[in-house]
Amino acid sequence: MSFANDYLSFSRLKRYAQCPKSYQLHYIQKAPSTPNASLLFGSLLHAALERVYREIVAEKLSGRFPEDRLLAAYKDEWSRSGLSEFAVFQEGLTILGNFARQHALVDHTSILSVEQEFRLSVERFQVLGYIDRVDKVDDETVAIVDYKSNRAIFTREEIDYDLQLSIYAMAARMLWPWAKNVRLGLYLLRHGILMETTRTEEDLAAAREYIAMLGQETESATEFPARLNENCVWCDHSAQCPTYHRALLGKVESVCQDEKDIEAVAREREEVARMAKILYARKDALEKILKAQLQEVDRLELGGMVYTIGKTTQVSYATEPTLTVFRELTGKNEDELVPLLLSVEKAKVDALVKDLTKSLAPADARMLKARIEAIAEKSVSPRFNAQRATTAPAGDAP
Ligand code: SF4
Repeated sequence: MSFANDYLSFSRLKRYAQCPKSYQLHYIQKAPSTPNASLLFGSLLHAALERVYREIVAEKLSGRFPEDRLLAAYKDEWSRSGLSEFAVFQEGLTILGNFARQHALVDHTSILSVEQEFRLSVERFQVLGYIDRVDKVDDETVAIVDYKSNRAIFTREEIDYDLQLSIYAMAARMLWPWAKNVRLGLYLLRHGILMETTRTEEDLAAAREYIAMLGQETESATEFPARLNENCVWCDHSAQCPTYHRALLGKVESVCQDEKDIEAVAREREEVARMAKILYARKDALEKILKAQLQEVDRLELGGMVYTIGKTTQVSYATEPTLTVFRELTGKNEDELVPLLLSVEKAKVDALVKDLTKSLAPADARMLKARIEAIAEKSVSPRFNAQRATTAPAGDAP
């Protein structure tokens, strides 16, 4: 039976690229899907932000960010979401409270659009999407902001090759042709970080080709293989996927019989690595259920196992009193003790540099970074890495 997409979207293309089986179940067979709690949580953070930014524009608000409205919108969205876990509810309040504090001041005139719909023509396809927020930076520049609720921080490569941002760049050129510069940003809600990039004409030409090629493939494919990946645990069709269920049972299909056959070694290694990610993600999901139970009781005894929530104690020592004790009891002076006892944590240096560079002149900020970099002591230890040989563009219409 032939299949034609009504339209393409980033979500469709991403789903197909990640796992053709999931695409077939979702868009062709229209099998019932079960959205997972993480997706629902991300959607309700988006919905709360959308509501408050729409109010800022509609009521022409400028001045202090209306944190109270944002949190009220979140609570309202939560009550209709079907989510129930208290820790997740609280996490949302923290994430959005931090967002409001980071965006301390708002100016409605700088917001060009909220949840902007667009339709792009790419060869014979229509690409439909929505941009979370578009800001006007100056008379020549727009800034696209897409909110992400991911736990992991993207790498520079992921941002620079992100297909969703390439699609947004095309849309921005179509919708705001006066903008000579289009800044593309992913705002990582859990981390309070805006990661920005741009696109060249060549980048966009490559993205167009990729979209047309993948769109064609979604319609001409005769087979839709299940491709196990690290997101299987959140797949809304995992309940209907035998491949995933076999993976949960730990059944490896590409068992290497001859360790001299290096290709077979690599094949089995990849299958085991994918399976390990799936099993760890499943373990996390199961532990979450047990931890929720342990909020009600101190211990659970199930299947011969005892589950409790332990406490981890972290010990640190205040600098001056520690040096004083060692000085007094060992007779060593401060110059001898400091290298033995103290080191500066990279995370704290990075945070302080980031904070200070906001108030420093650009030349001083560059000097600070260069001098800090120059005194950094680096140690390198070998690490085994494995990644895909070719980099496909990563990744809002459904
Ligand atoms: S569970 Fe994984 S392999 Fe199965 S359909 Fe979903 S994404 Fe594909």
